[in-house]
Amino acid sequence: MLRLPPFTYLAAKTLEGAVRAIADAGPDGMLVAGGTDLYPNMKRRQFEPKVLVGLRAVPDLNRISGTAEHGMRIGAGVTLARLAAHPEIAKHYRGLALAAGSVSTPPLRNMGTFGGNLCVDARCTYYNQTYHWRKSIGFCMKKDGDICLVAPGSRRCWAVSSTDTAPVAIALGAQIRLAGSRGERVIPAAALYADDGIVPLAKAPEEILVEVILPPADGWQTTYRKLRRRGSFDFPVLGVAAALRRAADGTVEDARIVLGAVASRPVDVGEAAAALIGHPLAPDVIARAAHAASRPAKPLDNADLTIGYRKKMTRVFVERALSELAGVPDST
Ligand SMILES: Cc1cc2nc3c(=O)[nH]c(=O)nc-3n(C[C@H](O)[C@H](O)[C@H](O)COP(=O)(O)OP(=O)(O)OC[C@H]3O[C@@H](n4cnc5c(N)ncnc54)[C@H](O)[C@@H]3O)c2cc1C
Ligand code: SF4
Repeated sequence: MLRLPPFTYLAAKTLEGAVRAIADAGPDGMLVAGGTDLYPNMKRRQFEPKVLVGLRAVPDLNRISGTAEHGMRIGAGVTLARLAAHPEIAKHYRGLALAAGSVSTPPLRNMGTFGGNLCVDARCTYYNQTYHWRKSIGFCMKKDGDICLVAPGSRRCWAVSSTDTAPVAIALGAQIRLAGSRGERVIPAAALYADDGIVPLAKAPEEILVEVILPPADGWQTTYRKLRRRGSFDFPVLGVAAALRRAADGTVEDARIVLGAVASRPVDVGEAAAALIGHPLAPDVIARAAHAASRPAKPLDNADLTIGYRKKMTRVFVERALSELAGVPDST
């Protein structure tokens, strides 16, 4: 049995209290929400915080407000189950509800939060293993070692961004409100991510993700497709978020396609979106966009399923996502 190492748990009751507690804890501290990613990682000694600041009881993080017409605010502490089932979100920001509902299993979605999902650690088959497994093959640079076991000549870590909701948040043009001891700031969802497998978040460790701000739905259609070995359970080995808005005559006015689990951060494939704009969502247009989307996807041999299959499925999954938005019945 894997056991948690000892730590001090501070249950914050207010956002201000949480900001203070995590700043006071310094490099020894970490934030925890549902704990469904952090606790397993601590059991494997991938993180060894001495102090955890618990966010579950902070009311400011647990609210959903607004409307699709004017835009919505979703607290970082909202559970994935609540997000997936919220009627306004499921109707007008469908891709987000689909992504939240595709994470792991029902018990984990009841505990796991939107904020925790956006901040989930990058993954790699050589890293998401027990301490003893990692020790037996030699530690890698993400924790305790100094080389990359997937690409031994590489000076960087290629661990894969594995959050399901981030690609959709980016495709929706969402913004993120962060709070820290230096004050608050609002950034585009895409700016939360760094292209770095070791430290995949481009925010200060003490900054708390407070809420996700969704723009008005304004005619945008969204969807999310996820490739994984076990449909009931696994992390994505590919995520495809597609968002587009069409004119009355069916011409695509604007579009965004964002891939998850193909790099250390979600990848916005502007070239694929550009292939759609100004055209009707016809099969040849969809095929061109799907081809363009698969070009930048360069999977490495550090996730489930083979590299060739994952690369091939990028095109297939983008095509399926866009066909779904075009209203073509799914035959898969
Ligand atoms: C078996 C299994 C399967 C899983 N499958 C999937 C999957 O399919 N897709 C997927 O995306 N994830 C998956 N996960 C990971 C995890 O369950 C989810 O990502 C979940 O949403 C994490 O949320 P949490 O609240 O439990 O995060 P926590 O574990 O509490 O935290 C995760 C990280 O986020 C940070 N954090 C949490 N809240 C905040 C905040 N408000 N501000 C700043 N930092 C914060 C923590 O410090 C930590 O670094 C799986 C996990 C397991 C164990
Ligand atoms: S990509 Fe390389 S350095 Fe990063 S976790 Fe995997 S083996 Fe370690």
